[in-house]
Amino acid sequence: MTQQKTRVRFAPSPTGPLHIGGVRTALYNYLFAKQQGGDFILRIEDTDTSRFVPGSEEYIQQAFDWLGLPFDESPRKGGAYGPYKQSQRREIYKEHVHRLLESKAAYIAFDTPLELDAKRKETPNFQYDASTRGQMRNTLTLSREEARTLIERKTQYVVRVKIEPDKEIVVDDMIRGKVVINSSVLDDKVIYKSADELPTYHLANVVDDHLMRITHVIRGEEWLPSAPLHVWLYRKLGWKKSMPRFAHLPLLLKPEGNGKLSKRDGDRLGFPVFPLEWNNPASGEKSSGYREEGYLPEAVINFLALLGWNPGTDQELFTLDELVQAFSFERCSKSGAKFDIEKAKWYNHQYILKMTNHELAERFLPTLEEKGIAVSTEKVARIIGLVKERVHFEKELWEQSSFFFEAPTTYDEKTARKRWKEDTAGHMQQLIEVYESMDNFSANHQETIVKKWINDNGLNMGGIMNALRLAIVGEPKGPGMFLITELIGKKETVRRIQGAIDTLSRPANK
Ligand code: GLU
Repeated sequence: MTQQKTRVRFAPSPTGPLHIGGVRTALYNYLFAKQQGGDFILRIEDTDTSRFVPGSEEYIQQAFDWLGLPFDESPRKGGAYGPYKQSQRREIYKEHVHRLLESKAAYIAFDTPLELDAKRKETPNFQYDASTRGQMRNTLTLSREEARTLIERKTQYVVRVKIEPDKEIVVDDMIRGKVVINSSVLDDKVIYKSADELPTYHLANVVDDHLMRITHVIRGEEWLPSAPLHVWLYRKLGWKKSMPRFAHLPLLLKPEGNGKLSKRDGDRLGFPVFPLEWNNPASGEKSSGYREEGYLPEAVINFLALLGWNPGTDQELFTLDELVQAFSFERCSKSGAKFDIEKAKWYNHQYILKMTNHELAERFLPTLEEKGIAVSTEKVARIIGLVKERVHFEKELWEQSSFFFEAPTTYDEKTARKRWKEDTAGHMQQLIEVYESMDNFSANHQETIVKKWINDNGLNMGGIMNALRLAIVGEPKGPGMFLITELIGKKETVRRIQGAIDTLSRPANK
């Protein structure tokens, strides 16, 4: 037999923005598919019309465009097994519901929500199954005649799968191994509703995985409880032989490790849980996204890949291609992965360091232009080389480098009190003279000359250098002092020292 082509699908429901855990699920699907030379498919599971949120499908597409994880088949791209949106596949599902009814693997139930509620009140832990279906209004208890009349009168009904009790169901999971359960614990789940002529998630999911030739179902652990029912449906539809293999991924946990990561954790601790910003169309509420917070897509991918999977070595930085090579389900953890936003920031920092100074400069230039600052890319690249070690996000570049482009307008008060003494103005005035006489303004040369002047005059090294930094930067921060003055040039250096003298040693200050 020829080896089947690996085909995986990411199957979100368009019920709002994509949670970061969903992004990780999709990423693992992608990594596995590409490693096997297979296909990565997007299928939109929109059969639950009551939970539909407009804009979510576009949001999902845009998120993957940004991340750089292209689908081989999708609603937008099409493909040989479309349509890829379940709401457009009604007829297909109807046909399979019909087959299940014909083979008596399913039956029609007429119980109204009120009747079901009453039953639940009367019987604690009521479950619609082999032990109770005989007491309900369905095609197993009603006569053919009665059922036909109800349908002719357009009574709403549902189709339920008929689970036979005491059968062994095996879910073969690539992460968890074989999970065996007894069918008696399952209930006769609704697989179709006449009200909207749509199947429920369970049936649509199984039918599509089969028809789309899905070989591996890789999804979140929250779907593990549904897997036995899915296996059951595969059997009853006669598809047991071509059943996909399962992998249920561990949860993403709160940073504290107790329970599932939620949007509220993000709000509480100040980090996004969505890949892109999301504007809730109903409430008008805006939620931040990784993109808008300044994360690089490569950093998000690398970070998520190692949340629940580990390479077995201490390598932490992986390109997407390296992840494709290295990924395996054997190295996926069974237990949840604690979400650590500091790690995400660390990754972003690493990916910033990976960019060349020139690349970063080009990305930074528009910010400078907006501020009316005109400098060469060359010079910006040199400045970036000096500050990028301190930057986790590109948006921090300005804060870390503004003093290269603008003289300070204020001086940090605490530093001024501590570093700008009675005699500082005099020393700075002398330093201006030292600077004026310099013909070579390289950092090295400055350092030699200035230090010599300090020593020759018996001045305090720390005192002078700290005062100089205050004059040039306005704050006790920044890279090597002489590297800064070299870049801003002699004229500007002198001007800034004079400016500090004028401001900090005004008669009023004395
Ligand atoms: N529509 C389900 C979801 O929203 C898909 C679960 C699965 O992958 O089977 O996650």
